[in-house]
Amino acid sequence: MRFSITLPFIDKLESYFDNRSVPWKLIIVGFTVAQFGFESYLSYRQYKKLAEKAFPSLYKDEIDQATLEKSAAYSRANIKFTIFSDAISLATNLIVIHYDLFPRLWNWATAFGAAMPSMLAPSSIIGVSLYFFIMVSATTAVMGLPLDYYKTFVLEEKFGFNKSTLKLWWFDFFKSTGLLLVLGTPVVYGLLKIIETFSSNFVDYVCLFIFVLQLLAFTLVPTYIMPLFNKFSPLEDGELKTSIQKLADSVQFPLDKVLVVDGSKRSTHSNAYFTGLPFTSKRIVLFDTLIKSTTTKELNAILGHEIGHWKLNHILYRLVFSQLNILATMTMFRVVYRNKSLYQAFGFVVGRTTSLTPTRVLLPAFPTLIGFLLFGDLFRPVNCLLQFISSLISRTDEYAADQFSKNLGYSDDLCKALIILCKENLSSPNVDSWYSAYHYSHPTLPERLAALGYKQDVKKD
Ligand SMILES: [Zn+2]
Repeated sequence: MRFSITLPFIDKLESYFDNRSVPWKLIIVGFTVAQFGFESYLSYRQYKKLAEKAFPSLYKDEIDQATLEKSAAYSRANIKFTIFSDAISLATNLIVIHYDLFPRLWNWATAFGAAMPSMLAPSSIIGVSLYFFIMVSATTAVMGLPLDYYKTFVLEEKFGFNKSTLKLWWFDFFKSTGLLLVLGTPVVYGLLKIIETFSSNFVDYVCLFIFVLQLLAFTLVPTYIMPLFNKFSPLEDGELKTSIQKLADSVQFPLDKVLVVDGSKRSTHSNAYFTGLPFTSKRIVLFDTLIKSTTTKELNAILGHEIGHWKLNHILYRLVFSQLNILATMTMFRVVYRNKSLYQAFGFVVGRTTSLTPTRVLLPAFPTLIGFLLFGDLFRPVNCLLQFISSLISRTDEYAADQFSKNLGYSDDLCKALIILCKENLSSPNVDSWYSAYHYSHPTLPERLAALGYKQDVKKD
């Protein structure tokens, strides 16, 4: 059975766009700059909104002025940080394009691979691509260190969230970069091999490959990867555990275990979630910080919300949505993945003899990995649009999950818990509508409380 679009117009589009007169570099620079400009504009709107001294009246009743001002200052500091890191990443992208760093890096990857023992020396374009992937990933990770250091030890520290130590931070860096290389390299190999093997029919097979990876991620990440970073211990017997079990039984939630994670090791931010595939048993994970800050009933109200996501099939729909997204994305990638003019604009000459310089690479076949990177840039406008859509879907799901918890009888406790979380996490008290439409996966506190029919006398219970 075939899922992908095999209409002749894909082939037509493919040859239509393979045209030397298309200014590929200019288009990619344009999209990259436009995305930065658009996102910075949204951030600027939000920054201005946060400078307002007047807060929605609901906050004034629930959260003291000093906390509100601290929350606004925290959000402003975060926005400044985001604009700064986006500017660095924009500058890096422009440098990569202007100085033809892709072909240079490709030549270095070829030389590096050739210097390896014969068993590890790359014998094909895929082989060089893997060295290229490793070099680029490792460089990107190292280049991200100063910003991450600032975020953890200056920004988060200043607002009292950071609990990490320099030693833990370095451990995290080496573990996460190591994992990226150890797990990412075979994934990249699989993708490139599938495209090489199935040529223009690759779309279905790539979708299937990514689907299998997603299922593996769902099952393996919580069990094997996350414990590398945090300690997960079973929740002790007692009132909290009994009440969670009772809640799970009452809605036939297939609860396997309740685990407590030592989130306080790095930060005082708190959270709760569950893991497991849509049709298998689940583990509920509670941050130790959350247990400390909420009562048993409030915590159950939060779990009522989480269980709502499962009962209302949100995870399953998300999985289907992401499959459709991947199918559409790969179909579009299919249009450009053999586009000679695109590769040539970035210094990769395919199937033709020409004089070679450090900024030009001659190859017998398409370097698909480079194709993915360039396609990622061409896809930026679509991605921005998708971000609006996925944020909207996510916020709709959050309302539904809140409603589910309310129907379980947790309305008041959920409101109280949401207020506590908002206070403790220093959530933005003022929110710009455009900014939140793009970035917010959750509705704001006043929106959620209004939807839950919150009355202020609740807090006086
Ligand atoms: Zn939720």
